[in-house]
Amino acid sequence: MAPLVLRLLGLVPILLGLAASQDWKTEGSQDPFEKCMHDPDYEQLLKVVTLGLDRTLKPRRVIVVGAGVAGLVAAKVLSDAGHKVTILEADNRIGGRIFTYRDRNTGWIGELGAMRMPSSHRILHRLCQGLGLNLTKFTQYDENTWTEVHEVKLRNYMVEKLPEKLGYALRPQEKGHSPEDIYQMALNQALKDLKALGCRKAMKKFERHTLLEYLLGEGNLSRPAVQLLGDVMSEDGFFYLSFAEALRAHSCLSDRLQYSRIVGGWDLLPRALLSSLSEPVLLNAPVVAITQGPHDVHVQIKTFPRARNLKALKADVVLLTASGPAVQRITFSPPLPRHVQEALRGLHYVPATKVFLSFRRPFWREEDIEGGHSNTDRPSRMIFYPPPREGALLLASYTWSDAAATFAGLSQEEALRLALDDVAALHGPFVRQLWDGTGVVKRWAEDPHSQGGFVVQPPALWHTEKDYEPYDWSVPYGRIYFAGEHTAYPHGWVETAVKSALRAAIKINSREEPAFETASPEGQRQRQGPAHGVAGSPSSDLAEEEGSHPPVQGQLPLQHTTYTRTWH
Ligand SMILES: Cc1cc2nc3c(=O)[nH]c(=O)nc-3n(C[C@H](O)[C@H](O)[C@H](O)COP(=O)(O)OP(=O)(O)OC[C@H]3O[C@@H](n4cnc5c(N)ncnc54)[C@H](O)[C@@H]3O)c2cc1C
Repeated sequence: MAPLVLRLLGLVPILLGLAASQDWKTEGSQDPFEKCMHDPDYEQLLKVVTLGLDRTLKPRRVIVVGAGVAGLVAAKVLSDAGHKVTILEADNRIGGRIFTYRDRNTGWIGELGAMRMPSSHRILHRLCQGLGLNLTKFTQYDENTWTEVHEVKLRNYMVEKLPEKLGYALRPQEKGHSPEDIYQMALNQALKDLKALGCRKAMKKFERHTLLEYLLGEGNLSRPAVQLLGDVMSEDGFFYLSFAEALRAHSCLSDRLQYSRIVGGWDLLPRALLSSLSEPVLLNAPVVAITQGPHDVHVQIKTFPRARNLKALKADVVLLTASGPAVQRITFSPPLPRHVQEALRGLHYVPATKVFLSFRRPFWREEDIEGGHSNTDRPSRMIFYPPPREGALLLASYTWSDAAATFAGLSQEEALRLALDDVAALHGPFVRQLWDGTGVVKRWAEDPHSQGGFVVQPPALWHTEKDYEPYDWSVPYGRIYFAGEHTAYPHGWVETAVKSALRAAIKINSREEPAFETASPEGQRQRQGPAHGVAGSPSSDLAEEEGSHPPVQGQLPLQHTTYTRTWH
């Protein structure tokens, strides 16, 4: 009898833990965090992506800087509404951080940038549907994949049930719970904050803490449990970044969520957007200077190969969708107001690196793996498997934030071999013979146009909880509007870039002319210091040449690239 009682008593902490892990989803069906992060204008944006903007009676000349998804979506809805749009793109391709690698020999594809869309991203789903793109399931989780840490290797179905078997000295109440449930247990205090303070105040509070601080402090997790979340869920990328950002990211990124992908490759999205445009996109056209005047705005581009040969285009408004570092390289006249410059400099980009290896056969199928990802504490960290019947080009390593440092500065050969070592450590040395000697490395931090993977902000320590307000990028500076992944929440997602583009397009479409909008509304100016006035005419030495680049229009041929090439 006594041993049975003891055994039952032993179950109590586990049951309590289980109850705690369920607390977060007790009220209503929607995750309260998700509810808190919901965009008030989401339905309006969904309507615009479905039906378009009202047709304008005052067509404007709009220059869009950047042919990433934000630039292309804004260009599409504005040109459908009757505006004259020109897109200027610094790179020799469209798509920006949507970049599908296509192998010429095998026909296999690998997503160097975006690869999955959560089911909650209805705007993006609607956009793809409207463009006639087919979506299919992206397998985020396959229980037969592996986790290997501290040289202990377990199938992930086992990690879900007994993560302590990986050698983490978990507390009794943490044992027997999946990493996701342990994370959710820690969020109970945050949930209480949400209820007590309301979304706005609670998020301001979370904005000032790191994830690590929260998990160990208010989240009350043991150090081994936090280590587990870092190793297995890649939460360590957020440890020193803002807890609010980690919450936002987690609302879109979890093995529990459902995801889709674009059949045939994500680059079909920018290409479909391009096909739907009646206006040109100028490639190899980096914008280097923007001059605003009372009646128009002049945009200078640097032409190649004669680097000094600057051309200028004239427009009524400019929409900047380039990343923060790229915008900082543009010369503005008059200069951007101090608060805009500070906001740009304050954007924190984390690096992101992907390494693909091409194998002679998809050996992982012999282990009953049909997708999802394995985790390792070796440098490669996450290995994603392609879907069945879609080849043997393996995403052998996906690292971001601090974890990407292990691949920084390596030669292509070294990076490929490092990833191969890790795949061999996980699946066995036989994979070395199956590697066909080719692969692709993409380091977004070294991309000359993005100069970073995506934005994840550190804690907002410059501000107190009371005076902290996230910068409002939807406010234009005179004739200059802003959009892109960095200008909306949650950072680092395609849908975010699309939402920001739709917001900017709505504003441009309803812009009153000839009134020259002030640099910022009262609220923002008061919070962030006085704005510079916008005055003066464009410098008279600008060459007024339009369309000096061959326009790229309609359907592009699929981009083929050398298989073993490295993209920095
Ligand atoms: C490795 C990685 C994985 C990702 N995975 C996903 C995912 O699975 N799902 C998801 O939804 N999102 C994902 N993302 C995020 C997503 O790719 C981005 O949020 C989105 O593509 C950003 O679009 P954008 O238009 O804001 O910026 P970009 O795509 O960066 O477009 C900006 C464009 O501006 C151009 N440009 C820069 N400077 C100039 C200049 N001076 N003049 C003219 N043009 C200029 C650039 O060349 C670029 O084409 C991922 C990102 C990375 C890096």
